[in-house]
Amino acid sequence: MNVLVLNCGSSSVKFQVIQTDDALIEKDSDLCLAKGLIEMAGPKTMVTYQATGKPSSKENVPIADYRAAIEHILDWIISPQASLEGIKSHSDIHAIGHRVVHGGEKFQDSTLIDDKVLAAVEEFIDLAPLHNPPNLKGIRAAMDVVGPSVPNVAVFDTAFHATMPETSYIYGLPYEYYLRHKIRRYGFHGTSHRYVAYRYQKMLDIPTDKVNIITLHLGNGCSACAIKRGVSVNTSMGFTPLEGLLMGTRTGDMDASILEYIAHKDNMSLHDLDTLCNKKSGLLGISGFTNDMRELLKREAETHDKRARLAIDIFCTRLKRYIGGYLAEMGGADAVIFTGGIGERSSAIRRRVCQGLECLDLLLDTSANDHIGAGEEGLITREDSKLKAYVIPTNEELLIARDTYRVVSGQSAQVR
Ligand code: ADP
Repeated sequence: MNVLVLNCGSSSVKFQVIQTDDALIEKDSDLCLAKGLIEMAGPKTMVTYQATGKPSSKENVPIADYRAAIEHILDWIISPQASLEGIKSHSDIHAIGHRVVHGGEKFQDSTLIDDKVLAAVEEFIDLAPLHNPPNLKGIRAAMDVVGPSVPNVAVFDTAFHATMPETSYIYGLPYEYYLRHKIRRYGFHGTSHRYVAYRYQKMLDIPTDKVNIITLHLGNGCSACAIKRGVSVNTSMGFTPLEGLLMGTRTGDMDASILEYIAHKDNMSLHDLDTLCNKKSGLLGISGFTNDMRELLKREAETHDKRARLAIDIFCTRLKRYIGGYLAEMGGADAVIFTGGIGERSSAIRRRVCQGLECLDLLLDTSANDHIGAGEEGLITREDSKLKAYVIPTNEELLIARDTYRVVSGQSAQVR
């Protein structure tokens, strides 16, 4: 089955075309035929496309909205420039898989999109005002463009965390806030945590109920997940993606009373405070110059910039705290997995996170850590380390394609 995977954000549409079916999944040899990105900026919209094995190309195409973006993608996919194997017309795209950030408590699995699902995703706009509206616009546009003969499937970031116990998802607020307003931990990045847990299981060739790990997704957004017997039992992002680890521009954990204090001191509105915590804080806010971990590491090395160092140190310390906390909560685990742009590519950050974790029986193999290549997965702890650490590159699009295939062919998607 050829699946178009769409990730519609507030100012971009990312896509991949992936060929998958039971036999390909079994052999782990699903094929990514092409990928691309539309950075929406009206008349200045930039489109990047890449057919696998060919150089990428970039062009400026004025694109007004999601419908135009999806039409553009579909036209490129069947074009002679792309010349994707087995794709000659739109009817060769058999299904579309959509990343949807918030599925509330309703969606515990990926699901075929119909009017009821659309209405529910719309209802959750309240919970995810930045993310669900573009996701929904993308779904509606795609359904409109391809018509009823092509099934559309929603894959939710929150779904993997549906297995968390109440002790993980209920906040210390009066319980009625959960009952009345559904205020609870939902967790995000679920597709990424689920994917790396699946790869770990494959790598070790063990059954799902033997997967006891802590996964660390470290990108611009960062989250940790405690996975016990193969399912999520806790995660660091909460009611929104603001909670938990220090991130590129988000505070992560912080005393909520600070907000009222700043509001009075600086005469700031709730909206201003939300912007402050989500867009101006984290690595950017502490360092005062960037949210980009590469630049921070470079600045720290070249100029010994104190605030760059502080931002990185806080980032790593908070990771240690979550690893230790989850180990205690889970009654121990077998491995810590690093993924996401920082987790996959920065041996320096992995080293700084692992330093001091000898007390938890995690013994880093510094040579393995330094030599793991971009896109490679592998072990980075010593043979005698009881708590192992691995680098496993994430691939959310692949899981979205597989879920789409499984849902369309009537199987349960949560099987990985
Ligand atoms: P997103 O969450 O937007 O998908 P990514 O997973 O691509 O983002 O991660 C982006 C982060 O990864 C940025 O902070 C970037 O600086 C960092 N990063 C990418 N490559 C490296 C590297 N070689 N060393 C350190 N950080 C890196």
